[in-house]
Amino acid sequence: MPDTDVIVVGAGPTGLLLAAELRLGGAEVLVLERLTEPTTQSRAGAIHARSVEIFDQRGRLEHLGEVARDDHGHFGGLDLDLGQLPTVHPGRMKIGQARVEAMLTDWVTELGGEIRRGYEVTSLEQTESEVVVNGSLTARYVVGCDGERSSVRALAGFDFLGVDAELELLRADVRGIEVPFRFFQRYPAGLAIALPIDGGLIRLVVHEFGRPPQTRSGPVEFAEVVAAYQRVTGEDVSAGEPVWVDAFGNTARQVTEYRRGRVLLAGDAAHHLMPVGAQAINLGLQDAFNLGWKLAAEVRGSAPAGLLDSYHAERHPVGARVKTNIQAQAQLLLGDASVDPLREVFRELITHDTVRDHLAATIAGLDVRYGESPHPLVGARLPFSALTTDSGLTDTTSLLRSGRGLLLNLSGEPWTAAGVDVVSAKVEPGSVLSDVDGVLVRPDGHVAWVAGTGPLEAAVERWFGV
Ligand SMILES: Cc1cc2nc3c(=O)[nH]c(=O)nc-3n(C[C@H](O)[C@H](O)[C@H](O)COP(=O)(O)OP(=O)(O)OC[C@H]3O[C@@H](n4cnc5c(N)ncnc54)[C@H](O)[C@@H]3O)c2cc1C
Repeated sequence: MPDTDVIVVGAGPTGLLLAAELRLGGAEVLVLERLTEPTTQSRAGAIHARSVEIFDQRGRLEHLGEVARDDHGHFGGLDLDLGQLPTVHPGRMKIGQARVEAMLTDWVTELGGEIRRGYEVTSLEQTESEVVVNGSLTARYVVGCDGERSSVRALAGFDFLGVDAELELLRADVRGIEVPFRFFQRYPAGLAIALPIDGGLIRLVVHEFGRPPQTRSGPVEFAEVVAAYQRVTGEDVSAGEPVWVDAFGNTARQVTEYRRGRVLLAGDAAHHLMPVGAQAINLGLQDAFNLGWKLAAEVRGSAPAGLLDSYHAERHPVGARVKTNIQAQAQLLLGDASVDPLREVFRELITHDTVRDHLAATIAGLDVRYGESPHPLVGARLPFSALTTDSGLTDTTSLLRSGRGLLLNLSGEPWTAAGVDVVSAKVEPGSVLSDVDGVLVRPDGHVAWVAGTGPLEAAVERWFGV
């Protein structure tokens, strides 16, 4: 018998959410994390609407504490209004990654998952029935959530295709200075950002047009950021006290497959993208939300054929699309004056509501649809609707809290289905669900079936194996 059902490598946001979802689905899970303490690096400074929705669906939103909301987004540095998104959580939440990880860590622990810190994975061997980690720990499956330099990816032989960074940006999170607000401001020599972030800090980012990644013998010095910021903006930020300094680039890589036998990848381990606009962290969270219930069903022995492979089939195209989206933004952001005409055209296009809504929904992760169905709801996330049941008022978000599948019966007739929660309810006129008699919803909130699109039994069997 293996030591555990699933070993998750990496206690970043992806690994932690995956561990929680695996526990909710009834799997044993062990998270192995190289760092002895959570990192204090700021990294992603926001989460987008779809991630906010999934935390809400699991009742975790209130555990994040007070969080400011911001409707001001961007596409390639061009202002983009996120306040019109079709969700109860429009805009984005301005929250540092460390706070998201702290909330998820508490949740995994509450659910009985073990997080073993100070444990670095250095070897991996697959047999027919298990994976052996570091020659001693065994699990039925291993998921590499170990970030952009993933060891699991290398050890299991995944192909990681794409391009390495050709351009470099410098960044410093500082306290103690007052500097004019700069939202992706372009100058003849480069691009500068100065924005308030969580914790009373200012995030400074600077790119000098055409500057390639530099070879350094040690970490990036704050003096480099100060000098580049001065050259680009003419402003002196040397009085700031740096809390975190780093350099990053426009790397765009993705693995060709998300599963090799008993080893899977999620988050930055599966896709390394330019960290701008908090799309990467959200992509990883949504990988985890897609994979958790499927892998839990697999180790419980209740997964229908093909369920686990649907993780790659569904998430690889989403990752590829976000990669393309970020590459397009990188060109608009990091190009010199030669991209100004293209930026002007985009600036005009974004004033059209349909273009704005399209780009905003993609950045927020709200437009993801799995599979193809003529019915617009099938494959999409279940939209919010207030509901009335025999027990009183509720809504579609609250009904997903258990992490189980849901058959929402709006027909007024008695319905039954095995393996999922069955809830009979009524919707008010005007609800997005007022035209349907019922929906079958997967644990990740995506609609698997709508009444009238085929037999319910076939959909239950396809997704829940009963
Ligand atoms: C330096 C940096 C700056 C970033 N800045 C931004 C930003 O400004 N805005 C933005 O939107 N996004 C940013 N990102 C991206 C964002 O942080 C990631 O998308 C997000 O953290 C991905 O989460 P993850 O859980 O997939 O991976 P990670 O958060 O990288 O977590 C991986 C975890 O695995 C652990 N690990 C690695 N190897 C092993 C091993 N062999 N054994 C055990 N544990 C291991 C690591 O210690 C880490 O805790 C940044 C990322 C980095 C690395």
